[in-house]
Amino acid sequence: MKVAWMYHDIMDLYGDKGNMMVLKKRCEDRGIDFILHTIGIGQEADLSDYDLIFLGGGADKEQMSLIPDLLSRKENIQKAMDENTFVLLICGGYQLFGKYYEAADHSKIPGLGFYSYYTDTGKEGSRCIGNVVIEAVLDGRKTKIVGFENHGGQTLGVEHPLGAVIKGYGNSFDAGQEGFYDGKILGTYLHGPLLPKNPEVADFVIYKALKKRDPDFRFEDLAPLSDHWENLAREAIFKKLEIQE
Ligand code: GLN
Repeated sequence: MKVAWMYHDIMDLYGDKGNMMVLKKRCEDRGIDFILHTIGIGQEADLSDYDLIFLGGGADKEQMSLIPDLLSRKENIQKAMDENTFVLLICGGYQLFGKYYEAADHSKIPGLGFYSYYTDTGKEGSRCIGNVVIEAVLDGRKTKIVGFENHGGQTLGVEHPLGAVIKGYGNSFDAGQEGFYDGKILGTYLHGPLLPKNPEVADFVIYKALKKRDPDFRFEDLAPLSDHWENLAREAIFKKLEIQE
């Protein structure tokens, strides 16, 4: 599995890099080769050569600084998606695949515009912060996803939400829905980081990525792992938030 981690040096809030560590470990435990390339501003790369593109979250300043570089890669990212490279986006990264992002100081930056969702800033100084639990359906697999959100941006006009909010805010203060998933990209506000406490989502990302080179690959083809510690961590969160698993 070949992964492009974009803007690793500036888009890495609340341990987003942990997502890469989890993918690496879960692949290696199964004997799947895992190649991770970091791609910074100005670094040449053909993104369509990868099975997965990953972009984490970041503060407004970092989002602003990478925009010219990100927009210059628009055609290449489109090509990658057309050729079934899967895309995992967290928070600030998720926002930038939509029409635009309005920062806390009301300056607006254009997004890649692949999707019609857009992100406005919330009321003065207000941010969605806290633990989140959502119920998602990933290509027919129903699962609860847990994480942590901290964003000022209010993402609206989301046509294909990732899931329904059980606890927390999600795309905006009163959205009741979290993230975006359309089969090609999975965007979410959930840090934590996302994948360590959601092994089923981690495996789903691996499965989607491996499908690029082998369209017949099935989720069930991934050998089961123990998930003992992951499940203990999930149980602790569910208990704390008083949610039935
Ligand atoms: N700067 C963005 C916001 O506040 C994204 C933050 C993040 O990635 N956690 O909405």
